[in-house]
Amino acid sequence: MSIEIRNVSKRFGDFHALRDVSLDIESGELIALLGPSGCGKTTLLRIIAGLESADAGSILFSGEDTTDVHVRERQVGFVFQHYALFRHMTVFENVAFGLRVKPRGVRPSEAQIKKKVMDLLGLVQLDWLADRFPSQLSGGQRQRIALARALAVEPKVLLLDEPFGALDAKVRKELRRWLRRLHDELHVTSIFVTHDQEEALEVADRVVLMNAGKVEQIGSPQQVWDHPASPFVYGFLGDVNMFHGRAHQGEVLLDGLQIESPEHAGADNAKAFAYVRPHDLDVERYSAGQHLDAQGRPRGIVVQLSRAIVVGPIARLELIPAGATQPAGGSEDHIIEAQIPAQQFREMGFREGETLVVTP
Ligand code: ATP
Repeated sequence: MSIEIRNVSKRFGDFHALRDVSLDIESGELIALLGPSGCGKTTLLRIIAGLESADAGSILFSGEDTTDVHVRERQVGFVFQHYALFRHMTVFENVAFGLRVKPRGVRPSEAQIKKKVMDLLGLVQLDWLADRFPSQLSGGQRQRIALARALAVEPKVLLLDEPFGALDAKVRKELRRWLRRLHDELHVTSIFVTHDQEEALEVADRVVLMNAGKVEQIGSPQQVWDHPASPFVYGFLGDVNMFHGRAHQGEVLLDGLQIESPEHAGADNAKAFAYVRPHDLDVERYSAGQHLDAQGRPRGIVVQLSRAIVVGPIARLELIPAGATQPAGGSEDHIIEAQIPAQQFREMGFREGETLVVTP
């Protein structure tokens, strides 16, 4: 089922939770709604579900306006962060619940329920847990059961609100891969809320970046990563350094350095900024002979290594541009972050306090 979100706005008192949000979701897509806490992701999901009404705008399911369609008739399945499994029911009964409460006439027979529930438990690879109670399951298992329960009524749309948010990092990673495979099998139109950029980029067909109640960008994971539409998107998707310079022929000039930044360079000589991710910076030990051009200007940004932290295979370097002083109040705006392989860091033998040169 396709979903069209048209100019949806929502206020809570004076607070604008959603501002004119529009989005078209194709049938069978897996969409990630990504953004910081409080940006309106859950509110949008609740409006799509019919749990909340919009102040303005409309939601269309397969071209039909859903405004007057009750949540029970929307054929929507939910999975929330805090699994709402019934504690006094076994796994089997939890998954069977949606089938048992169907009105007489459309309610499946006991044999059909048994087959359907066991098929679903097989799908989420937990059929061996059918007789357990929720308290006897791990967090990851509970979320898979919650998903099986949501799927039991054959929803046309699946809404997942931070479904793996309460789980530890390793289980989260496993479950998101598993969810992607499951989606590839079932093709149910799905909307997945997360504030974890890695999760969104890994799982979704398209990512919708939200900030302060507005959509900042919609695109495939690669599009939003390679061509962030705004400084917010750039910063939200990963660590980034921002360099101020002047536009010159579609590039940004910064102290004689040219940085490619087609999205952000305006008319020649206008102020421009370039973003460079920490792993795209080259770092070398500074030597005047090598790093000064004929006019005596440095080729690259001369910095002092203020701190180096090795995390597994990566060394994160905090670099202070030469001449910059530590501002009062501890602002870290002027710090450049570079990431290089830990192996290279050890081979180079960089020491804290040493003068280095970085080039984008
Ligand atoms: P999180 O990742 O923290 O869940 P979110 O992006 O899902 O955040 P929402 O839950 O949609 O954010 O909330 C958006 C804003 O609207 C928040 O500032 C929240 O405090 C506010 N809000 C949500 N529901 C209500 C409500 N019922 N009454 C008043 N304010 C609300």
